[in-house]
Amino acid sequence: MGLQESFRTYPKNLRVKILMILLNIHRAGVKHTDLKVRNIVLSRGSEKEPTIIDFNNASGHNCQFNGDIEDLEIGGWRPYFAIVECREIYYTCRAMDLWVPTETEHEGCTVPTECLSSAQELLGYMERYHGMSANLQENIRSAERCVAAFHIMYRNELRALGFLKT
Ligand SMILES: [Zn+2]
Repeated sequence: MGLQESFRTYPKNLRVKILMILLNIHRAGVKHTDLKVRNIVLSRGSEKEPTIIDFNNASGHNCQFNGDIEDLEIGGWRPYFAIVECREIYYTCRAMDLWVPTETEHEGCTVPTECLSSAQELLGYMERYHGMSANLQENIRSAERCVAAFHIMYRNELRALGFLKT
């Protein structure tokens, strides 16, 4: 049976292994076109090795991404599509949560994650661009929750990027 939940619930090393297999498939001139968790199977035993299955919808592919796994800068800021140039690789990285998003949702608005360094900064952004009062207690709490969730979710990556100092 294939994996059941979304990619992002699986350990990062497993997601990276799946991506490396995908890169090899693309390098061999094939795109899968239906890469979902249920099309990944894991070997038994403690060292779970993933295998990509179900190539029924696969097609020939001249991959525009001719770099290596390191060139994808996993854990860095999410690059523009034009940097990767291959849809399946780009959207697989996104689905696997392998980059720090450059935008996020807050109170129904899209906000750049660079303003998530602190709740004050987020509140300032919301006040400037979305006309939201920075002074209401509920807005302050909501901004604090949003910033805390982002920092927890991407703690290691944000530290490595120098965005978080602690
Ligand atoms: Zn490709």
